[in-house]
Amino acid sequence: MQNPSRPPRTVVVTGATRGIGRSIAERFVAAGDRVATLSRGSDVPDGVLAVPGDVTDSAAVDAGFTAIEEQLGPVDVLVANAGITRDGLLMRMSDADFDAVIDVNLAGAFRCARRASKGMIKQRSGRIVLISSVVGLFGGPGQVNYAASKAGLVGVARSITRELGGRGITANVVAPGYIRTAMTDELSETLQKTARASIPAGRFAEPEEVAGVVEFLAGPDAAYITGAVIPVDGGLGMGH
Ligand code: NDP
Repeated sequence: MQNPSRPPRTVVVTGATRGIGRSIAERFVAAGDRVATLSRGSDVPDGVLAVPGDVTDSAAVDAGFTAIEEQLGPVDVLVANAGITRDGLLMRMSDADFDAVIDVNLAGAFRCARRASKGMIKQRSGRIVLISSVVGLFGGPGQVNYAASKAGLVGVARSITRELGGRGITANVVAPGYIRTAMTDELSETLQKTARASIPAGRFAEPEEVAGVVEFLAGPDAAYITGAVIPVDGGLGMGH
C-alpha cells in the first residue's frame, strides 16, 4: 500500500529475479515507489523495470543506471542485494571461487554504490542499503570467500557514511541469518536441522521479513540511522 507520509522514490534493487531481492522489490512497488532492478535475468515482479546488468561489469552497471535514470528519474535508493556463494573448505578453495564471490558480493555492491552516489550527491539525499549476512561477522566453515565479501560490506557502508553522511546520504548494512530462499534450499535437510537448532528464534525467516527492514531503512523514520549493521537473524549472531 502506498505510504502517504512520503512521495514515491526511484529505487534500484540488484538481483530482484528471486529470493530476498525479489521480495524487497515487491515491497517497494507495494509502497508506491518506482522500482528497477539490475539483473542478469528478466523474470522480475510485476511493476519492476528490468534492466540487464551484471554487477561484475562496471560498464554494464553504469549503462544500467543511466537507463534507469532516463526512464524513472534520479535514483533515491540503492539496495545492493545481488549475491552468490561458492562454498568450499579453505585448503581446497580455488582462486576462481574466491574471486568470483568477492567480485559479485563486494565489488558488485561497490560498483553500484559508486554509480548511485553520483546522483545522490547532486540531490543531497540518498539511501544505500547493502545486503550482507550474519556470516560476515560470525564466520562460517567453508565460507572464507563469502564471509570476507560480506564483512567487507560493513567497511564499505561505514566509509560511505563518513564520506557522504553530511550530504543527506545514509549507508547501512542488513545482515540476514537463514532466510528461506533458493540459497538455503540448497542446504541438506541435516544441515538445515542443525542450523535451526542454533537459532534462538528456532526457525528460518521468510524473505519478506528482510524486505520490511530494508524498506524501513530507506524511509523517513530512518534518516538518522547510518553506518549501522542491522541483524535480521532470529538472534543467531547476537553479540557481534
Ligand atoms: P538468490 O540466489 O535466491 O538470489 C540472488 C540474486 O542475485 C538473483 O536475483 C541473481 O540473479 C542475482 N545475481 C547473482 N549474481 C549476479 C550478478 N553478477 N549480477 C546481477 N545479479 C546477480 O539469493 P538470496 O535471495 O538468498 O540472497 C540475496 C542476498 O541476500 C545475497 O546477497 C545473499 O548473500 C544474502 N543473504 C542470503 C541469505 C539466505 O539465507 N538466503 C542469508 C544472508 C544473506 P540471476 O538470476 O542473474 O542469477
